[in-house]
Amino acid sequence: MHRITLIAGDGIGPEVTSAARDIVLAAGAPVAFEEVAAGQRAERECGTPLPAAVFDSIARTKVALKGPTQTPFSGDYRVHVERRDVEGRTGMRSHPSVTVALRKELGLFVNVRPIKNYPSVASRYDDVDLVIFRENSEDLYSGIERMIDEGTAEAIKIISYRASERVARFALEYLRKLGRKKVTIVHKANVMRLTDGLFLKTAQETARHYPDIEVDQRVVDALCMELVMKPEQFGGLLLPNLYGDIVSDLAAGLVGGLGLAPGANFGPDCAMFEAVHGTAPDIAGQDLANPMATILSAVMMLRYLDEPAAADRVEGALVAVLQEKRQVTRDLGGNAGTRAMTSAIVGKLNGS
Ligand code: ATP
Repeated sequence: MHRITLIAGDGIGPEVTSAARDIVLAAGAPVAFEEVAAGQRAERECGTPLPAAVFDSIARTKVALKGPTQTPFSGDYRVHVERRDVEGRTGMRSHPSVTVALRKELGLFVNVRPIKNYPSVASRYDDVDLVIFRENSEDLYSGIERMIDEGTAEAIKIISYRASERVARFALEYLRKLGRKKVTIVHKANVMRLTDGLFLKTAQETARHYPDIEVDQRVVDALCMELVMKPEQFGGLLLPNLYGDIVSDLAAGLVGGLGLAPGANFGPDCAMFEAVHGTAPDIAGQDLANPMATILSAVMMLRYLDEPAAADRVEGALVAVLQEKRQVTRDLGGNAGTRAMTSAIVGKLNGS
């Protein structure tokens, strides 16, 4: 029996995570969920958006399925954490959001986001099949920002050999396991010669150990244009943190929107699975959210847990519901709610 930490999160988080939980259980996967609160609800209930119970649970389970958590748009918002982190550092640390805090504290150094077309989902393209690897621990997400004077602010972009090599090696191993043959390193080394230059050079050097995988590179702005013009030419994309964030949303748009894009964060001894989308406050609590991205994140989780049969059952049931097109959410061209779509998938799993 695998124990899994379930973080419902904010906005549409509770709706999409409960959908994924019910579907995983209906697939007969040998899992048990431990629910813990993080985000704005936890802040209201426990006085902190990231209670120690979240870390205690993940320390036991090593696997989390997480809904999106809201980051208030206030200039001085920080998430404070006091614990021994993955590198053995103690003391109070502060992070710009709950998600960044979890990624940093747990050492989740890479975010993997597969983006592909699904049957019967309308999109501008029909043969997109990408895996995006976003470096998760540094870049402009270092959280080091300050006002220099009243009219000027600065942020520090950090790129290290260690983190660049680690994420490149992970991406290449992952692609090799999937039997993929191509990776594109994405950067802006023509302007940020030292930081992005180091990322590019390190990734290229790491790739020399993987002669079976073809490596090329693109400047991030050119990549965006080419992705929109001819996305099928790309297989794997390896990007520093900020470009990875932006290009992931762009890529989700290629296949039908944010409702479809799953994700997984991996670290040395734990993993956290979460959709690319955010809390979607515009549709929260209205039974309108597409649960597919979180369900597909749970499929990635089942594969990580070495439960491929359960993963295939969940994906198969989801595809069957997409193909029928009757019980799908508004963004997928239907008029079913989150709950009705979830019940239809559970129905397929139960053989009806
Ligand atoms: P946050 O501040 O948490 O990032 P946001 O609204 O800025 O929230 P997203 O949550 O990523 O960003 O949503 C962007 C748009 O995509 C919204 O219009 C939202 O309704 C839509 N969207 C996001 N996720 C889904 C989903 N699962 N189903 C349907 N629509 C979604």
